[in-house]
Formats: sequence, C-alpha cells, structure tokens
Amino acid sequence: LISLEKVEKWYGAFHALKDINLTVRKGEKIVLCGPSGSGKSTLIRCINVLETIESGQITVAGRVLDGSGKAVDAIRREVGMVFQNFNLFPHMTVLQNCALAPMRVRGMGRAEAEALARKYLERVRILDQADKYPAQLSGGQQQRVAIARALCLEPKIMLFDEPTSALDPEMVKEVLDTMISLARDGMTMICVTHEMGFARQVADRVIFMASGEIIEEAEPDIFFTSPKHERTKTFLGEIL
Ligand code: ATP
Ligand code: MG
Repeated sequence: LISLEKVEKWYGAFHALKDINLTVRKGEKIVLCGPSGSGKSTLIRCINVLETIESGQITVAGRVLDGSGKAVDAIRREVGMVFQNFNLFPHMTVLQNCALAPMRVRGMGRAEAEALARKYLERVRILDQADKYPAQLSGGQQQRVAIARALCLEPKIMLFDEPTSALDPEMVKEVLDTMISLARDGMTMICVTHEMGFARQVADRVIFMASGEIIEEAEPDIFFTSPKHERTKTFLGEIL
C-alpha cells in the first residue's frame, strides 16, 4: 500500500532522510520510534506530501508521487493524518471541523457531510460533544475529534505523529484505545510514538530511526527483547 525506495530528503545542507526503504502492506501497523531529530516526522510528512523529497520514489495506494498536483490531491485523500497538537479549527464546532473536509475535498453537500461526521464522531465515542468548540474539550477529547476528522475522508492509511505526547497522562489511554480500536478494524497505520505498550499490543513491526536512517526493524517481541544495534539498546534503555 505504501512503498519508499531509496528516499533522500535534505533541508538545505542538512541530510534529514538517508536511503529510506520501506514497504507497508495493507492492514499493517507500523510503530516508528527514535530519538528527537532522527527524522520520524519528516518521514511521515513525506508520505503525506507535506514535504518534497530530493531523490528516490514514494508510492501510496498505487500512485507514484511524481511532484504533480494531481497525485498530491489523490494521495491526501487516501491518507489521514493526526498531529501532536490536534490542529483543530478553533472557530468551528466539533461537527463543523469534521464535516469540512468531506465538503471541500470530496464535494459532499452539508447534510451528507454532517451525517458522515456524526458517524465517525460516534466511532471515536464523542458524538455527545458535537456542538462544542475545541477549546471546550479536554486534550484527549480534542485528539479523538482530530482522529474522527481524519476518518471522515475514509482514508486507506492513517498516519499518527506522536498523538499522545501533548496530553496529560490520564488522557493518553482514551486516545490509545481509539487507535487500538482502529487497528482492530484493519486500518493500515504508521504511528510515531514512544508508547511502547501500544507498540507491543498493536504493531506488526517496530522501526527504529536515528540520524535520518532506519537502523533496525523487527516484530515487537524481538525488538524489545533482543535489539541488535547498540543505538537501539541505548534508546530502549532511555525510554523503558
Ligand atoms: P522529534 O522526536 O523531536 O519530533 P523527529 O524524529 O520527528 O524528532 P524531524 O522533525 O523529522 O525529527 O526532524 C529531523 C531533522 O530535520 C531535525 O534535525 C530537524 O531539526 C530537521 N528539520 C525538520 N524540519 C526542518 C525544516 N523545515 N527545515 C530545516 N530543518 C528541519
Ligand atoms: Mg517529530
């Protein structure tokens, strides 16, 4: 469903991604971890075409990212993204936040878009908050709205960039539970997270990045019990 071949990304003189090769099959759940600055956000932003790459090739849902606007729109429709800081529109209600993309991107009428929004708000168990504004919700609730909003495009792939790291500890679980539930439904997911309990429970593969490279990847059992590389061991020593 996703493939990256020999992907190189530079920010000016800074080499942010180095020879990234990665294939994600339909329904697979990938957890991406690594130290700050290792390129995790850059990698998933490239998949969603929020960043351009200097060389290599990215294919998403059968479409090669060739820099043309057409491929970009098509890929953004297939890929839902959830950020650390929710990024909800503050001046719109929860329902309006969720209905916006189906109207703008999928060309739905308001009634149809709002019906879809209600469906996915129900899916993340927050339909009762539909008429509130983001600032009236807790962080965990806002993040679940952000997940519902992404689901309203009915994407084939969901990308999560540290979705729980801005939350107070007591709200982390409700968001992880929502992600686990999506995973159970068979969603293809790439999650940047240091929630290693989540990784053990959900991930088919854990990928460890450092300095813009994929250093190691393995099934969670193997990754956590017998990491091969020194850098992985050091990293796990710091976070576990
Ligand atoms: P964190 O865990 O802190 O989120 P990360 O692994 O997601 O880190 P990235 O955000 O992908 O790391 O950044 C990788 C490197 O690229 C960092 O050194 C960062 O400073 C640099 N970088 C990221 N975005 C830009 C940009 N727009 N311009 C220049 N350098 C950037
Ligand atoms: Mg990041």
